[in-house]
Amino acid sequence: MTAPQVIVQKYGGSTLETPEKIQAVAQKIAELSRSGVQVVAAVSAMGKTTNQLIDLAHQVSKTPSRRELDMLLSTGERVSMALMSMALQDLGISAISFTGSQAGILTTDSHINAQILDVKAFRVEEALALGKVVVLAGFQGVSPKTKEITTLGRGGTDTTAVAMAAYLKASRCEILKDVDGIYSADPKLISHAQVIRSLNYQQMLEMTLAGAQVLHSRSVEMAQEKNVPLWIGPAHSKLTDGTRIQSESSDKSDQALGLNSHPRVLQIRTQASSKAEAERDLNVFLDQFEIGCPQIFYFQDQTLWLAGPQEILSAIEKNKDHLSSLTLIANEFCSVSLTYSTAPSPNQMTLFQNKLKELQITALQTWSSSLSHHVILKNSDRKQALLGLHPLIKA
Ligand code: ASP
Ligand code: MG
Repeated sequence: MTAPQVIVQKYGGSTLETPEKIQAVAQKIAELSRSGVQVVAAVSAMGKTTNQLIDLAHQVSKTPSRRELDMLLSTGERVSMALMSMALQDLGISAISFTGSQAGILTTDSHINAQILDVKAFRVEEALALGKVVVLAGFQGVSPKTKEITTLGRGGTDTTAVAMAAYLKASRCEILKDVDGIYSADPKLISHAQVIRSLNYQQMLEMTLAGAQVLHSRSVEMAQEKNVPLWIGPAHSKLTDGTRIQSESSDKSDQALGLNSHPRVLQIRTQASSKAEAERDLNVFLDQFEIGCPQIFYFQDQTLWLAGPQEILSAIEKNKDHLSSLTLIANEFCSVSLTYSTAPSPNQMTLFQNKLKELQITALQTWSSSLSHHVILKNSDRKQALLGLHPLIKA
């Protein structure tokens, strides 16, 4: 007898915003389970719960400790998992929910931004073998060293799902959201942006690091490392559209694929001579004020460009007088990045730069990574730059 197929699904917070939406998702999971597939559903916190919890922490404390923040934030996903499991049981499905620690998601001991080190999902395997649907609280784990509950950084449920898919050798990991897939640009900013049907891991990773909010960057790194096929699509429709991410994209021709942006980047001057040294200085400051790690987007000429969740950037700004050897120079910048299917040619670079010139937009900093061109711009130029550069992506 061949082993039943395992599918890991991740449901984002907006798909679980209300009790009705949870019931609708439960219907979908029940259908999949009845078709004979073993299902693990990793769930995010309902709607804007995580933001509300962060807010609450800051109402109670000026600098909430990262350990207690993890205790607090991990509850958001626990609420979702328990409710989802109840909704499934009401549909006659035998379901069980597990927290990250119950499911054996083992992480580093760093709070707020822990990384998954290993998965020992014995209870998940046992439950699946008994024919149960497993509902897994996303975004959290436990450090085997400190025995503390940790969280994986904003958007971390994607990484929970990928880690579990890799462990269970799932046939795919479905990331289900209230969007139609990965777009050529943020459709909230560029209304004619289009869904990209197929991407390889490297293309997706570059777009994620450039600010694409759709996926947690570590989930893409892990999917690439463990070769987990990903599918990103809308939670409440059929598996026909969406975006597929695997080692080879179906379209290999050399073209611009996606335009992404960090809405806010901080410019920090350092006296350090290397990126590693600058990072060390930054970490001393972050530890002192219990701030999570921002994304170090770029380092050049003793300048760090930091991106990341707003709450982290705001906490850095709030404590800027204590940066010691570092200096916050500016906070009114954003980034815009164009990612290509293969390494961009000098000609593509020229087209990109000419476009900015034509728009009379000055870049403060320009650099390239393996598949992308990046620029740092004034916030006020962001929308115009995105609109102006989007035609470089051929439909
Ligand atoms: N609830 C967490 C967040 O909002 C984790 C997640 O949604 O993946 O960042
Ligand atoms: Mg969320």
